Amino acid sequence: MTADRLTVVVAAYNEADALPRLHPRIVAVLDAMPGIDGRVIYVDDGSSDGTWPVMQRLAAQDPRVALLRLSRNFGKEAALTAGLDHIDAGAALILDADGQDPPELIPQFVEKWREGYDDVHGTRIEREGESWLKKATAHGFYRVIGRLSKTPIPQDTGDFRLLSPRALSALRQLRERQRFMKGLFGWVGFNQTAIAYQRDARIAGQTKFNFWRLWNFALEGITSFSTAPLRIATYLGVGTALLAFVYALWVVFKALRWGDPVAGWPTMMAVILLLGGVQLMALGLIGEYLGRLYAEAKQRPLYLVDAWRPGAGLSSEPSLEPGDVHAHRPATARSESA
Ligand code: UDP
Ligand code: MG
Repeated sequence: MTADRLTVVVAAYNEADALPRLHPRIVAVLDAMPGIDGRVIYVDDGSSDGTWPVMQRLAAQDPRVALLRLSRNFGKEAALTAGLDHIDAGAALILDADGQDPPELIPQFVEKWREGYDDVHGTRIEREGESWLKKATAHGFYRVIGRLSKTPIPQDTGDFRLLSPRALSALRQLRERQRFMKGLFGWVGFNQTAIAYQRDARIAGQTKFNFWRLWNFALEGITSFSTAPLRIATYLGVGTALLAFVYALWVVFKALRWGDPVAGWPTMMAVILLLGGVQLMALGLIGEYLGRLYAEAKQRPLYLVDAWRPGAGLSSEPSLEPGDVHAHRPATARSESA
């Protein structure tokens, strides 16, 4: 029986402290799974700390580890896409570098995959080490996008997921620049199932997503997966026009009936300001979509690769590092770094 290939993809941006703690956990889990040919791809998303040397050290100790470095920080979505693009066979499993998605759950994901599911995603039942504000806004976001978008996007689901080979190849066909991954996964479809898990606190380092970034991320998600806001603008316009019409009738009627001593400055100002505001809002909304259209029209690549170091088992190419003496240790050897 040939083993099923499973590649763990980890996007990391300034995770020099977290990676050495995460790696042994991944390796231990992969080693303990029978019938699984486990691999790891670490993607350095243009880190400015010691992340790349740390990755090189991990790769030197373990031939199953492949490394990819992007030319600069492209963001998590692009980094994940880059990692997924470099898998040559089998299924993919996406994991955060900070240990918030426990690798110990991987066997459960694999079990579901063996049952025939194509997209097994982790659903957070609890988020430790995150503020109530973040939890509340996250919850609100899933509600809004669930209402607005026709693409099913499961609630409280991050990027922690396993993709079967066919789901992976389907996902790779989606080359849009505005990459809202949760939505892209949902768009792909196939047999999906969720695994509930407790989201731990970060093992080291700090979150890269502050509120401003999360807000932009939410806008990205909504505009990439729904044109409902444009329609809302239309309805607002129609509603305002109807009200204006009724009001105009009333004004004319009033003038005919009781004459027109010029007054009504407050009403006039209120109407002008309201309409001005609504118009600007609608313009801004159109601008959001136009801007995204512009980015797509440029057809730039999603990311640029600075270095690609395939794992020993990942392809027949020789290791890029001449001094890599550990590259030929047996695949079952555990990494000693703890
Ligand atoms: N990440 C990345 N590029 C970025 C920002 C984040 O690759 O520009 C990675 C980061 O290293 C981590 C994952 O994305 O592995 C999730 O980031 P983080 O933990 O900061 O997000 P949070 O869990 O707080 O939402
Ligand atoms: Mg995190």
